[in-house]
Amino acid sequence: MNRLKNINLFLFDMDGTLYLGDRLYDFTKELLTTIKEQGKSYMYMTNNSSKSVKDYIKKLERLGIKANEEEFITSSQATTYYLKNKYPNETIYVCGTQSLKDEFIKEGFTLTEKVDDTTLIVMGNDTELTFKKLHDVCKILLTKENIKYVATNLDVVCPTEFGSVPDCGSFCDMIYNCTGRRPELVGKPEPIMPQLAMEKMNCTKDQTAVIGDRIYTDVKSGLNAGVLSILVMSGETTEEILNKSEDKPDLVLKDCGEITKALRD
Ligand SMILES: [Mg+2]
Repeated sequence: MNRLKNINLFLFDMDGTLYLGDRLYDFTKELLTTIKEQGKSYMYMTNNSSKSVKDYIKKLERLGIKANEEEFITSSQATTYYLKNKYPNETIYVCGTQSLKDEFIKEGFTLTEKVDDTTLIVMGNDTELTFKKLHDVCKILLTKENIKYVATNLDVVCPTEFGSVPDCGSFCDMIYNCTGRRPELVGKPEPIMPQLAMEKMNCTKDQTAVIGDRIYTDVKSGLNAGVLSILVMSGETTEEILNKSEDKPDLVLKDCGEITKALRD
């Protein structure tokens, strides 16, 4: 727990970590206030590419938390950052929501809805998915040479108040079944989001922690980025899942309330 005191940048997963669905956890407000009081920083780090940062700010406001754009790292932002560095001059077919497309347009990318013009496909958590888009993506991957294919995240399911609905990883599985192609991945468990956050906030690995409730995305992205990786048991991970997992977090906490206690001790 001593390592927590040296952390200056806390990168929080949201659902299952700070709230569950539409219910804010009791400890969250005090946690965020304590981090700020101690002159430290936090950011919200989410794999969900269906919502824009503005949507998240509205959601947090509804839950009683004031947030601003600079406090977010999303897989959509990380994807534009990744493409700018690796594939800056492509014509992109985005299989994603309008808000994901807007993020790309804002960053100056060329988008297309035409199969023939596409040189790169981005797959997101497309909550506006249609069969036409699946058809187009298959056609592009199967008929065009040297097509680049990138996914914002590979979460298989997305939690809702009644259980799960499919997320980007499930869409990518459908495409794999038809084309045999797997995408390059940007979101958690890749280290790109924590790396982008450290760059933005000017923090080192030793000063940074990733905190989340899911091992195969949150914890693994922290381990891959070489920062303190913390699992909280307030979301989807059970003792059984933890024991079976090959990826071991640096710290396991009941919930984020324990971070407040450690910082105040
Ligand atoms: Mg979560």
